[in-house]
Amino acid sequence: MSLPDHIFKQAADNALDIIMITEANFSDPGNNRIVYVNDAFVELFGYSKEEIIGQSPRVLQGPNSDLEIRNKIRAALTQGLPVQGEIVNYGKDGREFWIDLKMVPLFDSENAITHFLFIERDLSRRKNREQQLYQEATIDGLTNIFNRQHTYQLAAQAIEKTQRYQHSLSVLLLDIDHFKQVNDNFGHPVGDKVLGKLADIIGQDVRSTDIFGRVGGEEFFILLPEENIESAKIFAERVRLHIEQTDWSDTGLEGPLTISIGVASFANDNLESLIAKADQALYQAKRKGRNRVEIVN
Ligand code: GH3
Ligand code: MG
Ligand code: MG
Repeated sequence: MSLPDHIFKQAADNALDIIMITEANFSDPGNNRIVYVNDAFVELFGYSKEEIIGQSPRVLQGPNSDLEIRNKIRAALTQGLPVQGEIVNYGKDGREFWIDLKMVPLFDSENAITHFLFIERDLSRRKNREQQLYQEATIDGLTNIFNRQHTYQLAAQAIEKTQRYQHSLSVLLLDIDHFKQVNDNFGHPVGDKVLGKLADIIGQDVRSTDIFGRVGGEEFFILLPEENIESAKIFAERVRLHIEQTDWSDTGLEGPLTISIGVASFANDNLESLIAKADQALYQAKRKGRNRVEIVN
């Protein structure tokens, strides 16, 4: 028994995956012309069949289409081999899609490659979901900086590196002074806004290589790679002053707000012992009257 071509075509037209067929053009493999796309192609990329047929699949690529996978596809087209991978493609309106792509050569009765078949699946939903899960697992929702778990995970990695290469490294523990009074006098929602703004302000002072996170209700942690205790103390003073000089009126808080900071530097420490030292320094800063930076060697 055999199936007529028009039956195959209807099956392809109705597939949930994208199906695209190009001519094989070995003299210019980047320019194989599209001869068929199914309905799923039209639906995702927004081109009509009339618009896209005759064009090269290149029109689907753009700035975020990774060069490595593009080269892999081009090599497979040149050699007439199958290939599989993930690539960013672009719809007619410029929208980006993460695509799982499988390409196989198609042969005529003399075993010559005449066409290439592309079967593609939209991975954007999965990619977005992965991104969202990563975000939820690592970012604190109130302040948009790293949460406690992720902060300490990154810090442990940085400390491990420092143990291996004997570089310097310092950490800061920051705690808002009399924060309970902010909540008591202005309400919890104002307290929350203050926490968000404080993270924004300190975020302006940290570099992209620093690790900055919220590790408690109103406690923050900063790891400064390569910084010794003296330079870390200077940095901490700058942050302390920056907070002291901030106008909080847009959050609903009247008057100033201050923070205390404990600073400690790496000396054959692990994360736990380093935090304990910073905590001890923070305790000293509180005890000596708050709005201060203290260090522990
Ligand atoms: P000090 O650190 O100067 O000793 O005084 P404090 O009042 O800041 O100290 P304490 O650690 O006793 O209180 C911290 C307060 O922070 C308790 C709680 O009401 C408040 N807090 C903790 N997490 C949050 C939060 O997510 N939102 C708000 N609005 N308040 C919070
Ligand atoms: Mg506290
Ligand atoms: Mg406090």
